[in-house]
Amino acid sequence: MELQLIKGDITQLHTDAIVNAANSGLMGGGGVDGAIHRAGGPEIMDECQLIREREGGCPTGEAVITTSGSLPAKKLIHTVGPVWKGGHSDEEAKLHACYINALKLAESNDLQSIAFPNISTGVYGYPKSDAARVAINAVKSFKSNVITKVVFVCFDDANHQIYQQLLSE
Ligand code: ADP
Repeated sequence: MELQLIKGDITQLHTDAIVNAANSGLMGGGGVDGAIHRAGGPEIMDECQLIREREGGCPTGEAVITTSGSLPAKKLIHTVGPVWKGGHSDEEAKLHACYINALKLAESNDLQSIAFPNISTGVYGYPKSDAARVAINAVKSFKSNVITKVVFVCFDDANHQIYQQLLSE
């Protein structure tokens, strides 16, 4: 499995799957979630609505898959990161689960490449260095015969520098 790091906007990626840092109501929002819905169009929200009706949304740490609408990626995987509450509310396990469950969903849908944003490091306030370690460890621990490429997409300079450092170690 090849690991790649890029700085930029995840909505532009042509990977088989891109991952959204969603909220548990799958209601859209700010940050990367807002950017994905804006760029991908209303079909995405329509499928989120169906999932909400069927399953009540998506619990923290879990993942669901929808159309990518008009995005270049084939599919969109929504996962819900933990809100940072100081580190004693199982945040690390939940963030780890986000990456693993998104990878499992990509695998079961035969998606060979997947791009992740820096889940929970925006509005949800997870410390960036800690979140990057969790993300990289989760991805490295995941052994797959299907997924050949994982891209970490950093939007802000701070995350990009952290990932550059950690991935070169
Ligand atoms: P969360 O609620 O999980 O913290 P946010 O969307 O607020 O989600 O932030 C998660 C990360 O997504 C942040 O590091 C932010 O810089 C990044 N981000 C925001 N817009 C984009 C985008 N268009 N592409 C990739 N990453 C983005």
